[in-house]
Amino acid sequence: MNLTEPQCGTDLGMVRTKAVPNGDGSYSITGQKIWISAGEHDFSENIIHTVLARVEGAVPGIKGLSLFLVPKYLVNEDGSLGERNTLECTGLEHKMGIHGNATAVMQYEGAKGWLIGEEGRGMNNMFVVMNEARLGTGLQGLAIGSAAYQAAVEFANDRLQGRSLTGPKNPDGPADSILVHPDVRRMLLEARAFVEGGQAFILWTALQADLEKSDDEATAQKAKDYMGLLTPVLKAYLTDKGFHVASLAMQVHGGSGYTEHFQASQYLRDARITMIYEGTNGIQALDLVGRKLPGNGGRAIMSWFADIDAFVAENGAEGPIKPYVEGLADAKKKLQEGTMWLMQNGMQNPDNAAAASTDYLHLFGLTALAYLWAQMAKAAQAKIDAGSDDPFYVAKLQTGRYFLERILPDTHGHLVKMKTGADVLMAMPAEAF
Ligand SMILES: Cc1cc2nc3c(=O)[nH]c(=O)nc-3n(C[C@H](O)[C@H](O)[C@H](O)COP(=O)(O)OP(=O)(O)OC[C@H]3O[C@@H](n4cnc5c(N)ncnc54)[C@H](O)[C@@H]3O)c2cc1C
Repeated sequence: MNLTEPQCGTDLGMVRTKAVPNGDGSYSITGQKIWISAGEHDFSENIIHTVLARVEGAVPGIKGLSLFLVPKYLVNEDGSLGERNTLECTGLEHKMGIHGNATAVMQYEGAKGWLIGEEGRGMNNMFVVMNEARLGTGLQGLAIGSAAYQAAVEFANDRLQGRSLTGPKNPDGPADSILVHPDVRRMLLEARAFVEGGQAFILWTALQADLEKSDDEATAQKAKDYMGLLTPVLKAYLTDKGFHVASLAMQVHGGSGYTEHFQASQYLRDARITMIYEGTNGIQALDLVGRKLPGNGGRAIMSWFADIDAFVAENGAEGPIKPYVEGLADAKKKLQEGTMWLMQNGMQNPDNAAAASTDYLHLFGLTALAYLWAQMAKAAQAKIDAGSDDPFYVAKLQTGRYFLERILPDTHGHLVKMKTGADVLMAMPAEAF
């Protein structure tokens, strides 16, 4: 995807790359694109660039943008590779992480390209790719967090340091493993609760992607609504937390994590970009409150709340999973309150909605995970009730309990913070920074 230029990343309305019709259905593309992932490489015999450009004479801003297909090599009638197109990689970035991916500066000098879709619909067409890429980026953040967690567990098992406060657990050794220390367990359980909750979130979303293709119109519509509503949440929440988990995993490693003896530092570096590209997480939060929530009169969020209410009514009465269901009901209540606050305060002053957006997105992410943890707890409990002695199910409930008791209370803080509105952020004059 070739969107970014030196003067514009988030604000693509400022794109300068231009396209001139050649009169034969093709266009000549000229301009510079920067930070293009895998913009140049030798993994495939050709590279097909999708380039955002402005047709000469088109209106300024987003509405004047069109999307073009621009191959590295032109393709002959018989499908064989033809001459080299006039585009070039003029440099590769030196980055903090993701060193396996070449981030290229691309120069187009009258390169031959073909319009994808209609002129002036470039952003809409680009979003077909971007929505999927945002889901992929959420998965990337989570996957790095998951790998970092696994490395931290391995390290914690091997590292002998200090003694358990309740008496030695490895009396014949020089020290106990660091797994005896409550603070190390806090870090590992925090990481694990996010990783397992995030995995369920990814699978639930993948299910919605399948249901979008259902023959039943109502089912397909609802799944489509959920995909739209939850894509920014999944992207931003899972990448914020993926980085947080990678940082916890480094902390578990102590100094061995900060030096390059283990992979902990690479996970942390690699995870960081996921919060920035495919639309920064701040922009995901704005997309959620500004476009996705109010879309179709709030149909998606109302239907999601109704699903949660139905789950709570069905499962909340008594029994071992009651605390999970109560935690979910409480998180949903707070999210509903936050949504009402946005409706009442965001309209009169859009800065209020923007100021609350990141806390709202995190409140949303926590509620989504609470919903999934309640479902996982229900499934694990059913296995145990049916006589399973598989430790997997016991560990699932124990991890879920950590989520419930030590992560989910953050919903309160997010709600309180979002309700402070824009004033505390906007009161300070720009020159005072
Ligand atoms: C390693 C890497 C790979 C990349 N790969 C690609 C690629 O393949 N293709 C491609 O086209 N681009 C790519 N990018 C670019 C990437 O998508 C942009 O960096 C990203 O969208 C942010 O744009 P920016 O860097 O210009 O930041 P800016 O837009 O300058 O933003 C700076 C800060 O201001 C905030 N901000 C900006 N506008 C607003 C607003 N309206 N409201 C609130 N906050 C705002 C942002 O959230 C951010 O925190 C890549 C970047 C990197 C580093």
